[in-house]
Amino acid sequence: MWKRWVALLVICALAAFAAAQKKMPKPGWNLFKKQQDIQLGREYAQQVERQMYVVPNKELNDYVTRVGMRLVRQGGLEDYPYYFKVVQDDSINAFALPGGPTYVHTGLLKAAENEAQLAGVLAHELSHVVLRHGTHQASRAVALQAPAMVLGGLVGRSGLSALLAQMGIGLGANSVLIGFSRSMESEADLLGAYTMAKAGYNPLELARFFEKLESERGNPNWLVSRFLSDHPSPGNRIQALEEQLPYMPRGPYNAEEGDLAHIQQVVAQLSAPKRAPDQEPAGTAPGTGQVTAPVISLSGNVREYKGSLRGGAVAFSYPEEWQVEANPDGSLRVTGENGTVGSALGFGVLVDAVPTHDGRVDLPGDTKAYVQSLAQSGRNAKTESEPAEVTAGESPGLATRLSSDSPYAGGRREIDMVVTVDRGGTMVVLICVAPAAQFTHLEDAFQALIRSLRFNP
Ligand code: ZN
Repeated sequence: MWKRWVALLVICALAAFAAAQKKMPKPGWNLFKKQQDIQLGREYAQQVERQMYVVPNKELNDYVTRVGMRLVRQGGLEDYPYYFKVVQDDSINAFALPGGPTYVHTGLLKAAENEAQLAGVLAHELSHVVLRHGTHQASRAVALQAPAMVLGGLVGRSGLSALLAQMGIGLGANSVLIGFSRSMESEADLLGAYTMAKAGYNPLELARFFEKLESERGNPNWLVSRFLSDHPSPGNRIQALEEQLPYMPRGPYNAEEGDLAHIQQVVAQLSAPKRAPDQEPAGTAPGTGQVTAPVISLSGNVREYKGSLRGGAVAFSYPEEWQVEANPDGSLRVTGENGTVGSALGFGVLVDAVPTHDGRVDLPGDTKAYVQSLAQSGRNAKTESEPAEVTAGESPGLATRLSSDSPYAGGRREIDMVVTVDRGGTMVVLICVAPAAQFTHLEDAFQALIRSLRFNP
């Protein structure tokens, strides 16, 4: 008889344990096969490595590979062809593409307080890969836009990234492939924390790192917000992690074992990237008379502009290396040396105000009409993202990304981030332009200008 009581007690205890311990998340519905995640990731990795600057430093790449592979091996993650590379970008971020390619920003290496924090972010990223969040979201987008393609099946298609690009699914801002929903973030936090604990890293450090990011959220330094925009906080992220700690694999956690301090010294000594792999030196292409894209470098210091824009006051800050000039049509052009090719802006910001026909701004509707007219104005323009809410100065705005042919020689593409803001009666438009290879590099400067926008200076 007593044996039954014991059995019952054990069952009750197990049930209580199971209720407290969240079930490990599993991949959701997906149109792609796992092999296609890998193929897609490879295609996008080529794109990433053309547009971002992979640091040619063996020590740094070896270090993140060692931390990443320790998670892969001891965390029991699925067998994707993972690899890890460091890209030179001061914003605090890391991202993983479907099927395993993972990129760590130098900004993350600088910001991590110990190796466990870096490992935690990597484990979080690897969880997105294992849970196939990118292709899950892409599947939903494909199903909505092209049901025929779903019926026909994606199987066996080559050039998946080109196929998705036709549907506006790329690696731009707010991409469904690397920017996730809050529920997916909860899943990646949970699996990530479990994975790092299994590999011997204290999962509390992931919570601490998120705490640090959250505490710097309001900081005018835009660098931290990149991670939070790709990985929106599910709200009680830190508390949720702490609640799961008792159910995580126990230590010993040896977060201090790595040589992160040395790695941070190596990062600090990196010189500014000379140029991304597909950039060419500035100046005039020999024999063609055509202007090639300059290498744009900014100190981070800004100047203030106060003036008028089509009858209304406007003020904003802009990089000290650039100038503000009025175009013949009344719009403003903010750019630096070699920033224009003929009348076309090669990099910088075009600031304009567009009157609305009934004297009222319907921001979503007017934005759509404006972006459509831009997309039809030539240079092979293509919409890369749906409008996303942003704050421009004190006003709500919408940001939409397009890509188009760059006016610089070489036949490359540029990114045009179109930010529309309601000024009451007119819609103010900022078009932030850069060659695709340098857009990430200029994004902080663009964001700073957008944040500084004022209409009643
Ligand atoms: Zn995430």
